[in-house]
Amino acid sequence: MTGFFYHPTYLLHDAGPGHPERPERLKAVSAQLEKSGLYNRVQMFEPGPAERETLALIHPHDYIENIAHASGNAGNGHTRLDADTSVCQDSFMAAQLAAGAAVEAVGKVLRGELNNAFCAVRPPGHHAEKAVAMGFCLFNNVAIAAEWLVRQKLAEKILIIDWDVHHGNGTQDIFYNRGDIFYLSLHQWPLYPGTGREDESGEGKGRGATRNVPLPPATSEQKYLDIFYKTAEEVCKNFQPDFLLLSAGFDAHRDDPLANLQLTETGFGQMTKFAAELAASFCHGRLVSLLEGGYNLTALASSVEHHVEMLITQT
Ligand SMILES: [Zn+2]
Repeated sequence: MTGFFYHPTYLLHDAGPGHPERPERLKAVSAQLEKSGLYNRVQMFEPGPAERETLALIHPHDYIENIAHASGNAGNGHTRLDADTSVCQDSFMAAQLAAGAAVEAVGKVLRGELNNAFCAVRPPGHHAEKAVAMGFCLFNNVAIAAEWLVRQKLAEKILIIDWDVHHGNGTQDIFYNRGDIFYLSLHQWPLYPGTGREDESGEGKGRGATRNVPLPPATSEQKYLDIFYKTAEEVCKNFQPDFLLLSAGFDAHRDDPLANLQLTETGFGQMTKFAAELAASFCHGRLVSLLEGGYNLTALASSVEHHVEMLITQT
């Protein structure tokens, strides 16, 4: 069974008028999954909020308190944290619930209660560094889930595949010195946030455990898929992960307004199928996918539909 994690409070996080990372993204996803009948084929979960101690697996306590205060003091407006990252009074709770979904999902998959899971969360996480909120992200959901698995001694080698069109600078930075958590990113380059060059490959114990595949604007879908299949398989063979996490942004879609790659919803379905097959070969099928970006509502909803459909059929 595939788990689907969602909480209505995600809709209350509001980054300000005209912001592309808006509640309508999840409303579009929900409407599409309902229309397609996929809601009847997944197990739905409403997660609880991640405790501060869980957030502190990655983020310093004073950073967590700063986010809580910025959110608590926002009143009926917004507190700006960087050029494009703002919080409202519900943002801290939404962010706790996003990280909470990630941790609950990996726990249920690991215990065999679910085959795999998708977390339809916001705010997203992959740009958040240990003590820096940026790029619409407050807490790094995928990093918290990975670290939680390692600390619980529930998994020893975790592969994070990040196919959001932007480089996940936060996730890379957090695990740059770690040999037990591999970070693989395919992203458009040059593009925000500017990191993710091929020669950024990890340091110390983490040397070789970061792999960046920067792709020029207008890279075709077939070329992207060929590179994705080849690189992801090669990483799995060499690293031998026992858990697969996806930072699943859908902004590499050809209709996305923030970038210039050429993927379609069908392509995202094929990538999902391949990722699920890799998880089956290397990780006893253990796969949890977390929503990151995706800003064209139609493209996002339809890509998530293909993604979830493949997660269901691959189990
Ligand atoms: Zn993105």
